[in-house]
Amino acid sequence: MSRVYNFSAGPSMLPEEVLKKAAAEMLEYKSTGQSVMEMSHRSKEYKEIIDEAEALVRELYNVPDNYKVLFLQGGASTQFAAIPLNFMNGTGKADYIVSGQWGKRAYEEAARYGDVVVTANSVDKNYSYFPKTKKEDFREDADYVYYCMNNTIFGTKAPYIPDTGDIPLITDVSSCFFSEPLDISKFAVVYGGAQKNVAPAGVVIAIVREDMLGKARDITPKMLNWQVHADNGSMYNTPPCYIIYMCKLVLEWIKELGGLEEMKKRNIAKAKILYDFLDSSKMFSSTVVPEDRSLMNVPFVSGDKELDAKLIKEAAEAGFINIKGYKTVGGMRASIYNAMPIEGVEKLVEFLKKFEEENS
Ligand SMILES: *Cc1c(COP(=O)(O)O)cnc(C)c1O
Repeated sequence: MSRVYNFSAGPSMLPEEVLKKAAAEMLEYKSTGQSVMEMSHRSKEYKEIIDEAEALVRELYNVPDNYKVLFLQGGASTQFAAIPLNFMNGTGKADYIVSGQWGKRAYEEAARYGDVVVTANSVDKNYSYFPKTKKEDFREDADYVYYCMNNTIFGTKAPYIPDTGDIPLITDVSSCFFSEPLDISKFAVVYGGAQKNVAPAGVVIAIVREDMLGKARDITPKMLNWQVHADNGSMYNTPPCYIIYMCKLVLEWIKELGGLEEMKKRNIAKAKILYDFLDSSKMFSSTVVPEDRSLMNVPFVSGDKELDAKLIKEAAEAGFINIKGYKTVGGMRASIYNAMPIEGVEKLVEFLKKFEEENS
C-alpha cells in the first residue's frame, strides 16, 4: 500500500496514527464486543466517548466554564441559518464581514431573516486580503457580528480578532479548527465543520457562551435550536456517533503531540516552506497578500492555464493529489491541514521546483 499526499481542502487527510487506531478498534472497541459504529448512543461506553471528545475540546482550547460545547449536524452550511434563527432575535440586526465565499453564503442566508448588512468585504480584489475593521464600523445595536476566520477557498486568514465592543462576535473556524490556540473568551460563538481539520465529514463542533442560548425565534426548527442540543448533551436525536469518536481520536493525537501551541509551530513551519518557495519562484506566485496568508490553504498560480493543467496532472501522477484550485481563484491550491506531515510539503516543493526547471 502506498498512501498519497492529499492536499484536498476537505474532506482531507487524517493523521495516519489515528486511522490505524480506528482500524485496530473497528471490530471491537475496548472489550465491548462491538464496533463504535454499532453502539447505542445511550450506552455507558458511548457516553464516555462523547464526554471525552468534549473534554478534549475544552482542554485544547482552554474553553471557559460558561461555554457549552455542542456536536451538531448538517455541516457548517446548516449553521448559516441556525445562527440568525438562534441569535438574531433582539433588534433583528446583524453585521457581517464578508472575506470570502463562506462568509458570503452565511450573509446571504442570514439576510433572509432580518436586517443584515455587510460591514466590510474584500470582493474588490477577489478576496485576496482580509478587510480591516474597527469598532465604530459595527452597528451598536446589532445582535451579533459574524466573520469567517480562515477562508478555505481564497487562502486568507483574519490577522486580528475584530473589536466589536459588547456586541457578540461569532466566527466560522471550519478550516483552521484546532490549528493554533485561540482565546475563546473573545467570542460568543466559535464553530466549524469537522471535515477539514478534525474528523471525517458529518459533525459541526460549536462552542457557545451560555448567555447566548435561549433566545431562538419561535419558528426555529427544534433541530436547529442550539438550546435544545445544549439541554440534551448533543443527544436530542441520534448524534453522528462514529464521527464524534473520530474527533476524539484526532484531538487525542493533538494533545499527545503537545497541544495547540505545538500544532501552531508545526503549521507555521510547513506553511513557510511553501510560501518561501512561491515568493522565490519565477513561475508560481501566491494569490494572497503576505500579511493575511492562511497557514492551512495555500492557493497559487502560474498565470498560464495550460501550464497549471499540466502541473495538476503530473502532480497527481507523482502522488500529490487534489492540488487543483477552486474555480473562482483558478490555478492550484495546497491545503496543508494539521494532518499533512512536513515531508508532504517538502516533497511537494521539490516537485514544484523540478517542474519549474523542466518547463521554463
Ligand atoms: C467547507 C467550509 C464550509 C462548508 O462546510 P459544509 O460542512 O460543507 O457545510 C463552511 N465554512 C468554511 C470556512 C469551510 O471551509
